[in-house]
Amino acid sequence: MKPISFEFFPPKTEEGVEKLRNTRKQLAQFHPEYFSVTFGAGGTTQEGTLNTVLEIQKEGLNAAPHLSCIGSTRESIRAIVDQYKANGIRQIVALRGDIPSGMGDFGEFRYANELVSFLREEYGDWFHIEVGAYPEFHPQAPSAEADIRNFVNKVKAGADTAITQYFFNADAYFRFVDEVMARGVTIPIVPGIMPIQNFSQLARFSEMCGAEIPRWLRLRLQAMGDDSASIRAFGLDFVTDLSDRLLGGGAPALHFYTLNAAGAVSTICQRLGY
Ligand SMILES: Cc1cc2nc3c(=O)[nH]c(=O)nc-3n(C[C@H](O)[C@H](O)[C@H](O)COP(=O)(O)OP(=O)(O)OC[C@H]3O[C@@H](n4cnc5c(N)ncnc54)[C@H](O)[C@@H]3O)c2cc1C
Repeated sequence: MKPISFEFFPPKTEEGVEKLRNTRKQLAQFHPEYFSVTFGAGGTTQEGTLNTVLEIQKEGLNAAPHLSCIGSTRESIRAIVDQYKANGIRQIVALRGDIPSGMGDFGEFRYANELVSFLREEYGDWFHIEVGAYPEFHPQAPSAEADIRNFVNKVKAGADTAITQYFFNADAYFRFVDEVMARGVTIPIVPGIMPIQNFSQLARFSEMCGAEIPRWLRLRLQAMGDDSASIRAFGLDFVTDLSDRLLGGGAPALHFYTLNAAGAVSTICQRLGY
């Protein structure tokens, strides 16, 4: 079986921490390669990310903190990364992050490739570095060509693996992989998989991150209205089928956006044979 990994966000309440422990327990049965934990832009979840990662590590599982650099100084990034290194963390998901509205100061890093270079310069090969990829292109990219060029540069700065933004169109992924491979990229590009559970939430996320919900899929989900059981059942079929096609077409692994819930992701993993 190809490797799988699961992504969480750091919970804000004690109740959320407890819920995430249960989620982890359920997902650990699929023997994921690692669990990753997101990081709020500008360091808003710094402590939560660290605490969650350390708790995962104590459970004997591999943990990968996300780290976004926008608005940060080299010194503030070094302070965070030193803490991870001191705690034996060996994997980081290195990102630019989104610029919080009203924030005037972009800090000392403008793009993720600068963070990747910094991590390599300062920490050598200590960390396995993952970066973000956008098969449907990043929403702020001036063009597809520029986005591909920027991605290739980010990989050349020293990334080991890429994880994609979620998408519902497998061809966008396969084309992206072909194009970057033709430009010399050889690292694994792992599809990010988003379960479909709630149409309005999905539409909101997708609008923000530039993931396209194909017209036929949107109309079908909209037609189900408030019938959440039907949306979930349809979503499970669709996302399992998408994952299956991706694996069958050569995707090296799958990374699931869990939103800290085990239900849908567990069902998809079981159906895929994990
Ligand atoms: C797997 C994954 C996990 C994520 N986790 C988090 C998280 O934990 N916390 C969080 O805040 N956000 C997270 N994000 C969202 C991410 O921070 C945003 O999508 C952000 O807008 C871009 O981050 P990036 O690292 O991909 O940026 P970059 O690779 O820096 O790209 C951002 C934009 O700048 C352009 N660009 C890149 N380099 C250059 C350059 N040298 N010159 C000119 N233009 C350039 C690119 O084409 C693109 O349009 C995640 C995204 C993914 C795919």
